[in-house]
Amino acid sequence: MDTQMLIGSRFEAGTETEERVLNPKTGETVLNLPEASLGQIDAAVDAAEKAFTSWSQTTPSQRSAYLLKIADAIERDAEGFAALEALNCGKPINAVLNDEIPAIVDCYRFFAGAVRNLHGPVAGEYLPGHTSMIRRDPIGIVGSIAPWNYPLMMMAWKLAPAISGGNTVVFKPSEQTPLTALKMAKLLADILPEGVVNVILGRGESVGNALINHPKIGMVSITGDVATGKKVLQAAAKTVKRTHLELGGKAPVIVFDDADIDAVVSGIRTFGYYNAGQDCTAACRIYADAKVYDNFVADLTSAVSSIKFNLADDTDNEIGPLISKRQRDRVESFVTRAAEHKHMEITTGGKISGERGFFYAPTIVAGATQDDEIVRREVFGPVVSVTRFTNPDDAVSWANDSDYGLASSVWTKDISRGMQTAARLQYGCTWINTHFMLVNEMPHGGLKQSGYGKDMSVYAIEDYTAVRHVMINHG
Ligand code: NAD
Repeated sequence: MDTQMLIGSRFEAGTETEERVLNPKTGETVLNLPEASLGQIDAAVDAAEKAFTSWSQTTPSQRSAYLLKIADAIERDAEGFAALEALNCGKPINAVLNDEIPAIVDCYRFFAGAVRNLHGPVAGEYLPGHTSMIRRDPIGIVGSIAPWNYPLMMMAWKLAPAISGGNTVVFKPSEQTPLTALKMAKLLADILPEGVVNVILGRGESVGNALINHPKIGMVSITGDVATGKKVLQAAAKTVKRTHLELGGKAPVIVFDDADIDAVVSGIRTFGYYNAGQDCTAACRIYADAKVYDNFVADLTSAVSSIKFNLADDTDNEIGPLISKRQRDRVESFVTRAAEHKHMEITTGGKISGERGFFYAPTIVAGATQDDEIVRREVFGPVVSVTRFTNPDDAVSWANDSDYGLASSVWTKDISRGMQTAARLQYGCTWINTHFMLVNEMPHGGLKQSGYGKDMSVYAIEDYTAVRHVMINHG
């Protein structure tokens, strides 16, 4: 197993406090990893600064070739990456191998192509005797900070647009899930010029904090909690850094009375519980028309209670455990508080599962109302709330009545109704008759406290580059 950080071309262990990396399926320690010292963080930033001089001058086609090599190398070692991600996150290996790795490989390939196809306004003489043109240039060193829910995929979402745009990167994985980032460090060191990507380890409050406050870092890209995003903004204000924030969600799902209920049930069974609900787009906040509510809740309860997890043969498992005891306890406390209210009913789940590891049973909280905590706050676990509506306008205004604005979905057989509702929803993404489906060609990112800045798509390259104007006086 690769355990060392990548600083320039050197592999070295951190010299500060050791952090335990756990197997969430058993709760056992996989290994302890020391975090980076301030000196090592500086060295990583210096390596990225040195590399920027030449990397920023490479052509898109040269960078594209590097990205394609990265994609091929991940694909060749897909099983090794999947096994490590499954170990560190507790994910079913088939989910990583069949869903995540192909999307990760495609992410690098997409940006390899996209960076060669950027478009912009025409150059022209907007002042007589002067020609103006627009450039899209890299920003400099990007400090990238990833969460624990999709460690390898978040690394791809952050590295691919940053380095394809000509930036260099200092990357910090979550202290809870560093294993695939360390394996990637080895792969990247074999492919990329020295210092283009550096990987350092450590906790948010120490290493992450040093990174976001580092004067040489030009842009901070972070996926995580809203509170963390606010700290990034405060730190960024000191040196006016560019920021890119993906801070979670509380996705509403509007089920109209004409929806195909079997399709909704099957959709929520998958999209509400995938990755044990540790997903910022999880279909977790359902508004169902009163005309279909009872049948829908009954069918969903039956479907969700059949989700397979915590089985000895991992190939049977559909979802894994929560990432940590802390996260599982947090999820449990949300459900316990909901159950104290008489108007809400836990129709399935509502309990910790098994003696070992951090498993929590897939749960439905029915009868929730708009002011309930379970409807308003991000749980980030396998818990879905269902709220009844009689007036479709209420469903839309309740859906929009949230601090979050990342993802949403509408279920109806009437496409006009679907389109009209999508136009009224204040979310970075609205799906009609599906949920959760992401493609590298299309942007992913939020509104409101879900943050701003797009992952995936050409919009991500725009976020990771600066628009510049060059004017020539040719008299
Ligand atoms: P977090 O925000 O604490 O951690 C995310 C990343 O930010 C980690 O790499 C962490 O080390 C780093 N970080 C934390 N504090 C920092 C600081 N002060 N300065 C710089 N970096 C810092 O999130 P978490 O504790 O891993 O999870 C807490 C909650 O965040 C979850 O319950 C969930 O609601 C949400 N979350 C959202 C996403 C998402 O995809 N949007 C992912 C993970 C967690």
